[in-house]
Amino acid sequence: MEDLLQQVADGSLRGWRKWYAISHAARCYRCGNFLSRLKVTLNTLKLGSEPANADALARLKAQVRDLDQPK
Ligand SMILES: [Zn+2]
Repeated sequence: MEDLLQQVADGSLRGWRKWYAISHAARCYRCGNFLSRLKVTLNTLKLGSEPANADALARLKAQVRDLDQPK
């Protein structure tokens, strides 16, 4: 599910899969949290002075994924 949500957040997911992921996130506390955190993180990256490159985005996604792991 997190993979789908990441694709929603970065805009690469389209069609019914996107709506499936969004409607799931609206009902699921954990996924809703994950998606909103991911969007904030991506927005922060976009607002930065440096243009986001694929490498930075991949690192960021890995960090977000780490945050989501139960410790
Ligand atoms: Zn969920």
